[in-house]
Amino acid sequence: MKRLCASILLCFMASCACAATGYTGDTVDGVKVIRTLDLADLEGGKIHRFYLQGASNGVGQHWLVPVLVAKGSKPGKRLGLQAGVHGDELNGTRLIHRVFETLDPAALSGSVIAVIGANSTGLLANSRYFQLQHDSGGGVDFNRIWPGKADGNAAEQQVHRIFNGIWAGNADAVIDLHTQSTGTAYPLYIYADYRVAGVKALAEMIPADIIKIDPGEPGAAEQAFNDAGMVSITLEIGAAKVYQPELIARALVGIDNVLKNYGMLPGKPGRDAKAQHSFIGNQTQSIRAGGGGFTEVLVALNQDVKAGQLLAVQRNGFGDITARYSAPFDARVASIGTDPLREPGSLLVRLIRINTDAACSDGC
Ligand SMILES: [Zn+2]
Repeated sequence: MKRLCASILLCFMASCACAATGYTGDTVDGVKVIRTLDLADLEGGKIHRFYLQGASNGVGQHWLVPVLVAKGSKPGKRLGLQAGVHGDELNGTRLIHRVFETLDPAALSGSVIAVIGANSTGLLANSRYFQLQHDSGGGVDFNRIWPGKADGNAAEQQVHRIFNGIWAGNADAVIDLHTQSTGTAYPLYIYADYRVAGVKALAEMIPADIIKIDPGEPGAAEQAFNDAGMVSITLEIGAAKVYQPELIARALVGIDNVLKNYGMLPGKPGRDAKAQHSFIGNQTQSIRAGGGGFTEVLVALNQDVKAGQLLAVQRNGFGDITARYSAPFDARVASIGTDPLREPGSLLVRLIRINTDAACSDGC
């Protein structure tokens, strides 16, 4: 009896400690569909591919989210990469493909997990928003609802399935890959909450142009990962709806640096934030259009500007200048509007600077 109890207890403990990969039994284009991933189940020294069963849609089918896992031949840290939380932000998909094109799982200690295209409906709609169909439709910002809800709307359920099915229990650090929104551009830019242990080190492994020390954004994937003990940053790679090879290549150096610094790959890390002379700031200010009009931005990304310097002019349909926008302080240009059509409230230029006020020490 005692032995039976002990073996039942052991089984119970094993099942608690180890969720086991949950297969739906479906195979699509030769790829197995899963509900949950458990790295411990997978064969080492190999790259695995799966479809995660996402939320179901109005015609009763599930969205299928591609997942790549490189499980190393030796134990080690577990790094996550996620692209396409905003459906119009695509540079991260190519970055993940490039990481996996060159990654040799036989030489890897630990694992690299990637989710490619988290926001299935946003990708198809060229939009940052997950497309809802109920109540005449509408969109949900897919980076403001993490970690999702098991019984929420379709967007919240999709997030819940990704967060709990893939990331929870499987990652030590996750880099969430974004770009600026359609009609605007970033350089290689990082949001990092320096209050969280491990975040500063992770951010500065990457040769970004700019690092924004930032207190986080409620509902953002980055914050949900940090809150759950997975060290996380948001890496913004340029502009939406394009592949930008130079920025992707530099981000790839950053990922390689992370793998080497984490002891997952042998070798010496390459160019990092220090070598790149990344601008590390804690205060941003967005200069937005007061009215609508055709807008000419007069400054470039990464340019230093002086207080009072003209940043952008706006014209009406006849070419008359209707508004001029100037820098409120000395700063560096962190983001610009690239679409000349700017309605009221649209971003023209975002500036970043170092503010020594204590109120800004964690980002403002
Ligand atoms: Zn985004």
